[in-house]
Amino acid sequence: MTQLSDIKAFSKPLIANLAKLGIGNLQALLLHLPLRYIDETHITAIRDLRMGESAQVEGEIVHAEVSYKPRKALIARLEDASGQLTLRFLHFYPSQIAALKVGAKLRVYGEVRSGFFGYEMIHPTCKAVGEQTVVAETLTPVYPTVAGLSQPSLRKSIRIALAQDALAETLPADVYANLHLPSFAASLQALHNPSPEVNLQALDNKATAHWRRLAFDELLAQQLSMRKHYARRRSVSAPQFAPSKQLVSALLKNLPFALTGAQQKVALEIERDLTQPHPMQRLLQGDVGSGKTIVACMAALQSIENGWQVALMAPTEILAEQHYRKMLGWLMPLNIQIAWLTGSQNKKDREAALESIANGEAQLVVGTHALFQEAVQFKNLGLAIIDEQHRFGVHQRLALRQKGQPKDSNQNLHQLMMSATPIPRTLSMSYYADLDVSVIDELPPGRAPVVTKLVSDTRRDEILQRVREACLQGNQAYWVCPLIEESEALQLATANDTYALMQNEFPELKVGLVHGRMKPVEKQAVMAEFSAGFLQLLVATTVIEVGVDVPNASLMVIEHAERMGLSQLHQLRGRVGRGATKSTCILLYQNKLSETARTRLKVIFESNDGFAIAQADLQIRGPGELLGARQSGVPMLKIADLERDVDLLETAKAMADQLLKKHPVEVERHLDRWMSSAGELVKV
Ligand code: ADP
Ligand code: MG
Repeated sequence: MTQLSDIKAFSKPLIANLAKLGIGNLQALLLHLPLRYIDETHITAIRDLRMGESAQVEGEIVHAEVSYKPRKALIARLEDASGQLTLRFLHFYPSQIAALKVGAKLRVYGEVRSGFFGYEMIHPTCKAVGEQTVVAETLTPVYPTVAGLSQPSLRKSIRIALAQDALAETLPADVYANLHLPSFAASLQALHNPSPEVNLQALDNKATAHWRRLAFDELLAQQLSMRKHYARRRSVSAPQFAPSKQLVSALLKNLPFALTGAQQKVALEIERDLTQPHPMQRLLQGDVGSGKTIVACMAALQSIENGWQVALMAPTEILAEQHYRKMLGWLMPLNIQIAWLTGSQNKKDREAALESIANGEAQLVVGTHALFQEAVQFKNLGLAIIDEQHRFGVHQRLALRQKGQPKDSNQNLHQLMMSATPIPRTLSMSYYADLDVSVIDELPPGRAPVVTKLVSDTRRDEILQRVREACLQGNQAYWVCPLIEESEALQLATANDTYALMQNEFPELKVGLVHGRMKPVEKQAVMAEFSAGFLQLLVATTVIEVGVDVPNASLMVIEHAERMGLSQLHQLRGRVGRGATKSTCILLYQNKLSETARTRLKVIFESNDGFAIAQADLQIRGPGELLGARQSGVPMLKIADLERDVDLLETAKAMADQLLKKHPVEVERHLDRWMSSAGELVKV
């Protein structure tokens, strides 16, 4: 791969500046594409300017002053044969005052707005007009850049790069046969130097055939890279677990409910994976309350029946504890040995747990992050189940995987990852293409949907009354404290204050408090009391967001709901509506809502469907936030847009595996081009 230092025209300081942009080689420079374009190909007469459009105007300064009212500004009038235009600068340097003196001939470019004295431009770019100034022949690209690297020198660097004969196709021609897209070379030339005939808006919106060609290449590179990782992990061996003959049916026989069709379907997919001689890499998705835990338990039993240990890991102590209890309830009757491991255990319990894990007595180990610490040695770990996988970082999952890998073999363990934050289809097709995905798309029968209400904080008294009535009728309620992201201390104070207020407000009720800074044992004690129905009202921070399952709780009040993200609200709301009682979730908001907050709350108000909510979240916030920890391991798409380019995504996905098999050399060439600037890749 050609490095920039191999090209004579590039000086050391220029290379250093380009490096700041993450550009280390020729291909990365070529793929440094414009953010937007400006049209300096012709000059517009002032009379013909139109509001809201960007235009280039040429004329002479006929008036200039620094005015101080209403605030300090440099104001000039530019005149051409057809009229006058105001130029306004709110920040300016002495050099600009000098450049805008009366009599100066300037060419300015900016967006036309209506001002006090007719049309004006705020902070236009200005160039002195000399004898030989010519208009541009192509639209002018504007690139992302850093301080110290000007647009002109970036443009010049790219012009040199384009002349290096490095624009050959990477993949066989038949890949593009039915797509009717221009070549890579033509696309890059066109995007770096677009002709004035191209529609500027289409170009800015990445809606031209040239952009589409590059979007496709990028999506294909993503697919190829992720499928390559998938194939590599699949090429190692893993223990094969025959389908369970006794334990699973014994478990199901004891259950008070029957599995839903969706649960049966995904359970079968997992069962089949575990019979294979290579490691399972499956993501189990299902909305909150869809019943993922029992499916995970069935997988665990298949492993245990085949003589292998299972680790079940959850991101919080509350959730791990709850899983532990649930597993005890389900598996004790089957005589399965379960160990429990968290960071907060006392030394004696911990040592006992570690020993039973090491000698293989513990068939199932439930715990938190503590599970992948150094000291934990499994005898023969065959399956790792990771709940709420997006809460764990890539590295933590990697560490756990290594636990199942005896040093001298390339045997690997099976992994089942679970997530209650539904992943929109386009995301799971792209950023999750290195996993197999199962979806539980059906809730257990008899769940009445949670009724959601949006209530202004001014009606707090009514809400308090409602909480009182619900609790006195034998139901239980959550009161979720506002999220204060800036300060953990403030968050804690707020939780304590709310707790005091509630105790004061409801002397007739038993009120509990749970927050993130409590000791795990304290947290567990409170949760146990709430589960048992001893507490009627639980004041909580968002620590209860994941997984908490108390079916008798049927009312939830969330304060300052406008501060929370969509999936967070959906998760929180999922804590109620888990039993037979009709449940309500009240979102309290402050009256002054921002536009985004209003949009968000509307989505959560209108929909109970986690997938629809995740889809809306994707549109409001973009993929970065939804990806969470995963983001750190996967290069983000820079050109393609999952919604706009979904057809290209589907095509790329359909051809990736075949390409890897048939054209490995070309695939590497394609990945070299596209991944050279992308940084770290997926490691899970
Ligand atoms: P999640 O998918 O959010 O982790 P859980 O596994 O905690 O959901 O299940 C939610 C509740 O539904 C639990 O109390 C569980 O025992 C119960 N449940 C699971 N499957 C079924 C089913 N098929 N019918 C009735 N209840 C079920
Ligand atoms: Mg769960």
